[in-house]
Amino acid sequence: MKCPVDGNVPQMTERHGVEVDYCPECRGVWLDHGELDRVADHAMAADKSRPAGGNDAKTRPKKKARVVPDRSHGWRG
Ligand SMILES: [Zn+2]
Repeated sequence: MKCPVDGNVPQMTERHGVEVDYCPECRGVWLDHGELDRVADHAMAADKSRPAGGNDAKTRPKKKARVVPDRSHGWRG
């Protein structure tokens, strides 16, 4: 297989346990059937391993929600 862009022979490399072909010239990447799914699975697994919220909310300044009763409509007359 050759790179359709510049005709270079792609190099084999491994990303997250998935073998991918990439062109060192134009940085093009080729995935075989199923490899994209495996990369996506890995990305999702990495996302889940992150701590969900937690301390993050405490460091953020509190945003007060302003509740203003809207009397202009007079929905009860
Ligand atoms: Zn290329």
